[in-house]
Amino acid sequence: MALIPGSKLKSSLKSSDINLNATNTNNDLKRSNIVYCIPCSDCDKCYIGLSRRPFEVRLKEHVRSVKNRDLDYATAAHVVSEGHTLSFDRARVIDSSNINYNHLAYLEATHIISNPVFNGNTAWRNTNHMWLPFLPSVAR
Ligand SMILES: [Zn+2]
Repeated sequence: MALIPGSKLKSSLKSSDINLNATNTNNDLKRSNIVYCIPCSDCDKCYIGLSRRPFEVRLKEHVRSVKNRDLDYATAAHVVSEGHTLSFDRARVIDSSNINYNHLAYLEATHIISNPVFNGNTAWRNTNHMWLPFLPSVAR
């Protein structure tokens, strides 16, 4: 994979929002059809989501949601309800699939049930828990 210059991204994001110097996620930011996680700074939980668009586009939506305290986002809801701070600089891609949306959603669901998350209502997801012992942990 070609290296993506960080300077272009840094200019499109306010440095107060994400410290991209402190992370190696730069190579992830242009990727799409991904499952990603945004860890919390103050507890061991993270937000796991999927995006068919580039990671940086989705990540900026989460940053904006926190700034605007938009409770439609689980990220903002966690910050507001728990008083925690999210580590956007440690957000990263944990999986990807170019097969189709259902496969991406399946991957997202498997990561959600195998990791501590503060995602909102995930009851609509159905992943067979018998697979749980075989799933990779994000925390590896
Ligand atoms: Zn937290």
